[in-house]
Amino acid sequence: MARYTDSVCKLCRREGQKLFLKGERCLSPKCAIERRAFPPGVHGKKQTFRRKTSDYGLQLREKQKARRIYGVLERQFRRYFEEANRTKGMTGVNLLAMLEKRLDNVVYRLGFADSRAQARQLVRHGHFEVNGRKTDIPSFQVSVGDVITVRESARNKGYFKERAQIMQGGSSSVPAWLRASVVDMKGEVLGAPAREDIEIPLNEQLIVEYYSR
Ligand code: SF4
Repeated sequence: MARYTDSVCKLCRREGQKLFLKGERCLSPKCAIERRAFPPGVHGKKQTFRRKTSDYGLQLREKQKARRIYGVLERQFRRYFEEANRTKGMTGVNLLAMLEKRLDNVVYRLGFADSRAQARQLVRHGHFEVNGRKTDIPSFQVSVGDVITVRESARNKGYFKERAQIMQGGSSSVPAWLRASVVDMKGEVLGAPAREDIEIPLNEQLIVEYYSR
């Protein structure tokens, strides 16, 4: 599958805000938004983040921001939108809920990874199982009642031992629709993510308008 391989910090600089794509580095002074607060590219310095933008431009930027935060390519993102549109309820909220229910996002939200990119890699490497079955598809949609567990074979790896200590320290906050159990290295889906559980600064209505043009 095609994937974005250039510097992810450029994506934040393009959007003019932190998208938190790199875990701890995003909170440190090394963050590119702190050091180079202008868009990437040769003419980046001449531009400002607050230049005038058309309605279409605003809608496009919001859609791109959502794609970049969740690490989803355009074709797949459009598929999510189409399914959200077919589902009962508000399309924008349905869309965000589908993105939240991706297995890589759930692994990140449970605190097993510092970033969604890292979570995706852990899932791809086959370190997780859902309801007792090895699941290495980052886009897998979890359902209410699903139990996500670090596989027995991975638990003794240095990474997960360290991760358990970090999780026990309580540095990551788990949203209300999930429950993490550090001792058992597992998490449970308690319900569907509500809009208020998704703290990402996104205006989903602009995304709906973008695809409804
Ligand atoms: Fe974005 Fe994180 Fe890079 Fe900062 S360090 S620019 S928040 S990905």
